[in-house]
Amino acid sequence: MAGEASQGTFDVVVLGGGVNGAGVARDCAMRGLSVLLLEKQDLASGASGASSGMIHGGIRYMTSDRRVTELASRDAGYIRRIAPHLTFRIPFLIPFATHGEEATLLDRLTWYATEVYVGTYDLFQPLKGGKPSARLTAEELYAVEPSLRPGLHGAVTLDEWGIDGQRLCLLNALSAAAHGAQVRTWTEATGLVREAGRVAGVRWRDALTGEHGEARASVVVNATGGWSPRWGKSNGVLVPMRPGKGVHLSLDRRHGNYGIICTAVDGRQMFLMPHEMESIIGTTDDDYYDDPDDLDATAEEVEYLVEGVASLVPSVRQSRITRAWWGVRTTIYEYGVEEDDLSRDHRILDHAAEGSAGLLSIVGGKLASYRAQSEEVTDRALALLGRAALPCRTHEEPLPGGDDVPVASELAEQHGVPEAIAARLVYRHGSLAREVLRVADDDPRMKLVVCRDEGIIAAEVAWIARHENVRRLQDLRRRCRLAVGGCGGLDCARPAAQVVARELGWSADQLRAELSDLLEVGWRERRPVLDGWQLAEEELLRAVHRGLGGL
Ligand SMILES: Cc1cc2nc3c(=O)[nH]c(=O)nc-3n(C[C@H](O)[C@H](O)[C@H](O)COP(=O)(O)OP(=O)(O)OC[C@H]3O[C@@H](n4cnc5c(N)ncnc54)[C@H](O)[C@@H]3O)c2cc1C
Repeated sequence: MAGEASQGTFDVVVLGGGVNGAGVARDCAMRGLSVLLLEKQDLASGASGASSGMIHGGIRYMTSDRRVTELASRDAGYIRRIAPHLTFRIPFLIPFATHGEEATLLDRLTWYATEVYVGTYDLFQPLKGGKPSARLTAEELYAVEPSLRPGLHGAVTLDEWGIDGQRLCLLNALSAAAHGAQVRTWTEATGLVREAGRVAGVRWRDALTGEHGEARASVVVNATGGWSPRWGKSNGVLVPMRPGKGVHLSLDRRHGNYGIICTAVDGRQMFLMPHEMESIIGTTDDDYYDDPDDLDATAEEVEYLVEGVASLVPSVRQSRITRAWWGVRTTIYEYGVEEDDLSRDHRILDHAAEGSAGLLSIVGGKLASYRAQSEEVTDRALALLGRAALPCRTHEEPLPGGDDVPVASELAEQHGVPEAIAARLVYRHGSLAREVLRVADDDPRMKLVVCRDEGIIAAEVAWIARHENVRRLQDLRRRCRLAVGGCGGLDCARPAAQVVARELGWSADQLRAELSDLLEVGWRERRPVLDGWQLAEEELLRAVHRGLGGL
């Protein structure tokens, strides 16, 4: 997809390869428009790749924004339909705690209110294929989740769905390309082209080759997420937003099979949930007005998150935190409201009144409702182009790999690989897992496990390099979670890099540079969670890699 000439004329140029940009590119391409998608880094480098990955209705918004909860629940159901392999169930527990030693009347009323509230959310569950809530006694609660601290009085369950948000972006971009769109990653939209008092395209620059050019289009869709306010300002339009920084932590092990809703020290809600082979703690939500490119996590944010979860699951303090990761929420501007209480609704802005006819921006919304948001933007783009509103099919047509998903055990037997490896492949690639394993059938060396944490085999790395729009080694972090596990890439990055280098024809120098970049990106995420001896040890290891490994 990358590297094709993008000098031409398009109906629509989409800026930003997050879930909204990729979703809009897909919908526009499926409705017969010629499309160019520009992403300044890799797909899902922004909020979409740093979200909690829940395609939920958003129970918190049910009373303030019922329409948002309904839209997200309905869209979550569609996402499960078009990418069944990529979604997984997350049953949450909302434990009943007391404020003092004994349960007071107020405690009991709070539990009852929680149960009624979650019971009301059950009305939305059929839209996304979720199970109704249930009340657990204390005995039942400790039977399902023994790691919880003693003294809890039961819980209410809450059924949600999770998704790999990074692959969701990728699959939308791949589908857009399959319908004729051009997708250019690592290519920044540097400015707008204007003609006869309206927007007539964008200028772009490829960060890897230095190549630059102009792409002309009647409609430009700005889906640059947290970058939008700054990007808008430098291009003469206003994109009002209340950007919010959100940090997550990854722990080296699963603490259980349930998500647990906890209360942070300031009373905010947060969670601990199992994800792949690890657990995730999330999340903070703080106003953020700086450059999203400069985002990172602080030691205070790390402690805030651990403290909140340790109040219910004390053993998290014994886990190793493997990394912190972060993103900018693209929330709609509102004054005088706490971050958590901001609406998760979305807006589509038409900048015609600011002298920029032909430019649309999308602000706010959720990963869970990206498809509906993209449909709305595409309808607006068609209207601006004066084209007939062709029906949207993105809720019906499966994303790549989303049809005829194989059974992992059968695939494992057919191709002679462990079932755990096959299961990971099916989760990430759906029906295309068959194609990945054909690579290993043709060359048995490709069955080599390059990453034990994530169950990545060489065949998957080769397949991804061939078919999934890889331009940099770090793109594999988002394609298959290379180097994001416990080893931080020190074990797995080198063998994977060799496979990618062979597939993409990289020189030895390029391979070394890519390897160094990958480890550096990982270090940025690990540095905030390290201190004392662990920091000293990691710094020593880095020095060894740099010195002996020539990185
Ligand atoms: C911590 C956190 C947790 C969240 N959890 C959830 C959740 O569990 N469920 C849910 O539904 N929602 C969640 N969200 C919200 C959700 O992630 C966002 O609504 C959604 O991902 C926004 O997508 P986007 O495409 O608009 O923005 P982004 O994903 O940020 O994409 C914008 C893209 O534009 C690119 N870009 C910027 N400038 C340029 C330029 N000049 N040229 C080209 N490209 C450019 C960036 O590199 C980036 O990739 C969460 C958000 C955060 C931050």
